[in-house]
Amino acid sequence: RAKEDGRNTVRFFNPEMQQGVLERLALEKSLRIALQEGQLRLFYQPQVDHQGRITGVEGLVRWQHPQRGLVPPGEFIPLAEETGLIVPMGQWVLQAACEQLVRWAQVPERRDWCIAVNISGRQLRQPDFVAQVVQVLAQTGAAPELLKLELTETLLLENPQDAIQKMAALQKYRVRFSLDDFGTGYSSLAYLRDLPLSQLKIDKSFVNNLGQDDRATAIVRTIVTMANNLGLDVIAEGVETAEQQQALSANGCLIYQGYLFGKPVPIEEL
Ligand code: C2E
Ligand code: MG
Ligand code: MG
Ligand code: MG
Repeated sequence: RAKEDGRNTVRFFNPEMQQGVLERLALEKSLRIALQEGQLRLFYQPQVDHQGRITGVEGLVRWQHPQRGLVPPGEFIPLAEETGLIVPMGQWVLQAACEQLVRWAQVPERRDWCIAVNISGRQLRQPDFVAQVVQVLAQTGAAPELLKLELTETLLLENPQDAIQKMAALQKYRVRFSLDDFGTGYSSLAYLRDLPLSQLKIDKSFVNNLGQDDRATAIVRTIVTMANNLGLDVIAEGVETAEQQQALSANGCLIYQGYLFGKPVPIEEL
């Protein structure tokens, strides 16, 4: 490119830019290795009903880096998205979740726990996304109705027609969908009506302010009412205090996920 600009043009990276590029290249390379060498871990965070019973878990990916230790998803998912590595990574997550469902199927008190996994935009846009999910289900023998795919409003708005069509296809297999971080995106109510969702997940920013801010309570109450009217379940994320849980239950939200009940942990700790 510098060549095309003509011989009188002087081009150089400033040191910061160069470091950024090198860091990204190094990160991308080690992310590839992570996938190949099995350095990814799926952590599980319980989802609990108003009687304190576990109804399911959310699977949250971690990178067990040989030198850096446990790396949270915020530090590698964006680059995985950009490079396309999110596709095999997301596939690994689905596989791990389905294998766990099959293990729980042997344990009477856990056989109806569901696992929610996060799906990224690039993953959903894959033309063979539906086939990939169906294949993992078939190959592991996991019960499709116990697999819940979490999508965000922003992701759905990228290409609503494609998303609706894929969701409908998976719904025929009884796979379910939850709308993650609900209330933070820009979803129109028309999409809420058209999407084959089974759950709304109230974003933790609304839960945070419960008890301090009357408007947060009003928003929660409105989301719960809307979910009820649309025949959707509703879960709150980021529940950290008993006061927050109390305010949620008083407003009709009866399923919770958050540090109050448990942080995301490896399966042995769950
Ligand atoms: P998310 O799906 O909204 O997940 C909830 C995040 O909130 C998790 O962060 C969780 O650890 C954190 N959290 C749970 N309870 C509490 C609480 O009581 N208080 C607070 N302050 N935080 C709480 P985590 O694990 O770092 O994941 C961050 C995001 O990374 C997730 O947000 C999700 O968007 C993404 N992510 C995680 N795993 C995957 C994955 O396998 N695939 C994809 N595509 N994205 C993933
Ligand atoms: Mg999620
Ligand atoms: Mg969320
Ligand atoms: Mg969130």
